[in-house]
Amino acid sequence: MIKEAVQNLFREQLTDWKLAKDNYEALSQAKTNEFKINYCTCKVQFNPARITSSAAKVDAKSIQQRPCFLCGANRPTEQKGVPFAERYTILVNPYPIFPRHLTIPYISHSKQLIKGRFADMLNLAKELDEYIVFYNGPKSGASAPDHLHFQAGNKGFLPIEKEWSFIPKERVVKHPGAILWRIHDTPRATFVIESDNLPEAEVLFNSVYNALELKPEDEEPMMNILAWYEKGIWITCIFPREKHRPDLYFAEGDKNLLISPASVDLGGMFISPLEKDFNKITSAEIKYILNEVCVSGNKLRTITQQIKSTL
Ligand SMILES: [Zn+2]
Repeated sequence: MIKEAVQNLFREQLTDWKLAKDNYEALSQAKTNEFKINYCTCKVQFNPARITSSAAKVDAKSIQQRPCFLCGANRPTEQKGVPFAERYTILVNPYPIFPRHLTIPYISHSKQLIKGRFADMLNLAKELDEYIVFYNGPKSGASAPDHLHFQAGNKGFLPIEKEWSFIPKERVVKHPGAILWRIHDTPRATFVIESDNLPEAEVLFNSVYNALELKPEDEEPMMNILAWYEKGIWITCIFPREKHRPDLYFAEGDKNLLISPASVDLGGMFISPLEKDFNKITSAEIKYILNEVCVSGNKLRTITQQIKSTL
């Protein structure tokens, strides 16, 4: 069983691998703040170990020049893995956000693209049903846009897991076995697929994927995805993105905020690697960041119409 194998992997890695042990211990002391933005809880976690990811250079040149940290040959010798479906390796993430945080790279070096891999994501969520599986698009927060991977974090951590069903929402499409919802959670923009049937969930996912804007220089529409499995049902949250990093990320002086949002942040846990940011960030700034990186309410309505017209 994969579940037991992953539990054993954690036990072993947190005993034998100093980097992981130290970082998980430090995480258990991490400070958090909490804000409410409309219906959504937005927490902020002060997490200095995440600086590498938040400040990662993800331009094509920098990526080409560094050895890929998800390729088996370049991984630390202490890092062990559990195989999944003969195509993925489940690893303990040594720079955790969650008390249990996994990285799940594809076995070979191939681009971070979700097309044709969504079923893998749902199968992972079913196998790892104590976790939320997530995907960051190549220009939406993935720090390895050149190597296909998912991540997973333990349930009971991201506010959206319990909150999504209470937020007012509109049913976009209902198929036998799958419903597509549009949540009214601006300034965040979220579609949710609720499904007990994997192929039907895939049909709805593809309809969302096809309705999203594909920017000329990109290989897939910008998005973040969270998926989990609960009592026979998959819940998938899709966050269409307008922008990768917010203006405040590049701002000079006091205005600067090193926040680079991805799936976890949009799920309600903003990661702040710098203490100065953690101490000063306000709900107004989080709102501002969400406004910038998520698609607008108008755009979301247009996408919804597009989806309806194709199903
Ligand atoms: Zn690689």
